[in-house]
Amino acid sequence: MNNLRQVFNHIISRTRAKSMGTAGSFSGLCPSHDDNSASMSITMENDRILLYCHTGCKIDDICTSLGIEKYDLFSPSDKTLTNKVPIPLKLVKEQKRMKANINADSKVVFFSSKHKKNVTESVRYSYINADGKTAYHVIRSDPKDFRPMTPDGYLDLEGVERLPYRLPELLQGVKESKPILLLEGEKDADSAMDMGLIATTFVGGAGK
Ligand SMILES: [Zn+2]
Repeated sequence: MNNLRQVFNHIISRTRAKSMGTAGSFSGLCPSHDDNSASMSITMENDRILLYCHTGCKIDDICTSLGIEKYDLFSPSDKTLTNKVPIPLKLVKEQKRMKANINADSKVVFFSSKHKKNVTESVRYSYINADGKTAYHVIRSDPKDFRPMTPDGYLDLEGVERLPYRLPELLQGVKESKPILLLEGEKDADSAMDMGLIATTFVGGAGK
């Protein structure tokens, strides 16, 4: 199956799912156990489908029962990406170097021009180079914005080579000729990895 909408329609019809009232949110019969109480939540997001069985069926089993692959739940830019070298991205240049402000909870605080106020780190994504060393971090804040941070605590990527996210796993995946998902953002890459897939992102929050 190629398109996320097709996959979604397939799941909806296969589980006889009904809308939960919220756009993109459905509840249907889990195909993986003898379900007669619509235990499965099916949620369509921008570029992925979330499946959750409330009785605890594993995502692998649900996918098998649905006749789909876990990959089908994501909408990558390129599903067949293998052995491709990432395109170097433009570095953020010509700005005064700013050391990150760290609050009492060891979280980064920075001024978000998007939100016109100071925002606080909610997640930190670390980019690891081929030698297993941290090359830089991407700080995601709440409310949502992003800043890159060098290991020595500057909020920029000066002199830092941009890497694909989760490079060591990616290199291992390439070595083992596994398919690699190219996704939009670290959050999706992390959730795909949690599902046992090899996934990366090149764009990163830092580029936005
Ligand atoms: Zn189930």
